[in-house]
Amino acid sequence: MEGHTDAPCPNCDHPVNDRPRAGGVTVCLNCGAWLVPDGESKLRGMSRSEAEQMPGPVQSTLIKASRLILQRGGAAPAEATEEDHE
Ligand SMILES: [Zn+2]
Repeated sequence: MEGHTDAPCPNCDHPVNDRPRAGGVTVCLNCGAWLVPDGESKLRGMSRSEAEQMPGPVQSTLIKASRLILQRGGAAPAEATEEDHE
């Protein structure tokens, strides 16, 4: 087991290689979840109250980032294709 490889997103299990430092926050590139460090090598989802305590510019950056991620959905956004969400 390696100690400092990608930590999985606790929300969707996608590996997150942008590990935030203590007090930092990152966004899962797969599901757009806001993640904060939890111990040495783990991540956990940011709670709503933590999110509310962040400065406004940080919040809006994160909101934009997760919107882009969710819009992208991993595919080219040429046309609005319908995804069956099952
Ligand atoms: Zn995720």
